[in-house]
Amino acid sequence: MTITLRFLGTAAGVPIPHVACACNQCGEARRERRLRRTRSAILLEGPDGALLVDAGPDIYRQLALLPDIPRITAAIVTHTHSDHYLGLDDLGSVVQNAGWLNKGLLPIYATPDNWSRIEATFAHLFLPGMFLRFEARTLLIDAEQTIAGYSVRPFDASHTIDITTAMLAFTLNGKRVIYAPDLKVMPHEVFEGADVAIIGGTFYQRDHPAHMPLLKSIRTCKRLGVGRIIVTHVGHLEWSNAELWALLSEQGADLAYDGATLAFDV
Ligand SMILES: [Zn+2]
Ligand SMILES: [Zn+2]
Ligand SMILES: [Zn+2]
Repeated sequence: MTITLRFLGTAAGVPIPHVACACNQCGEARRERRLRRTRSAILLEGPDGALLVDAGPDIYRQLALLPDIPRITAAIVTHTHSDHYLGLDDLGSVVQNAGWLNKGLLPIYATPDNWSRIEATFAHLFLPGMFLRFEARTLLIDAEQTIAGYSVRPFDASHTIDITTAMLAFTLNGKRVIYAPDLKVMPHEVFEGADVAIIGGTFYQRDHPAHMPLLKSIRTCKRLGVGRIIVTHVGHLEWSNAELWALLSEQGADLAYDGATLAFDV
């Protein structure tokens, strides 16, 4: 049975186009809907369930636009930066409106050190009462676990100092697929020989305390024998889509877009 990985959103912290920006990337995205990018999230769909990874501020619309929404059976919050978790209230509305509560609360997975931020904003979604939608589950770092039927091993991406940011190494029908929208380090044992690495492109070449430059991540993937490199969490790079696509192609990487899907067959 096929497992589908759907890119619900592919932008870094700020969607594309940016407000009041006329650069090639923003101008073009303003004119052409298909070149717009919303906050990064993916949805895995397979025979055992549907797993959502991250629920940023665009999540309601991302899910509402799907012609056929599967019942989401678990969600992972990689970390509590606003572009990855601020849509939890809206996700609660989706759970309610879609009638999924009949089958139980939606389990939300996050590492222990991220829960205080989630609870500070969204405690009502986890507490008995009229807004109860979710149940809290612990996402373990460096441990294989099964979530919504998917085998996943989360690793610390060292993206932030105050909280853990998880990058996720899935095994999807025998293929090793890494999802790392925000990453500062690339542990060799995680990336070595992976079939697919989906990596963050917040900055292309610029070094940043929280992000590894994309060019360096791509080169590391290639050195470690990654089969396919796909760029998501695209930042304000100011190139047109064609310019960015050409640059990445030269480097041997593909560019994700909102709505793109990958299929993993047995
Ligand atoms: Zn992010
Ligand atoms: Zn711009
Ligand atoms: Zn982040």
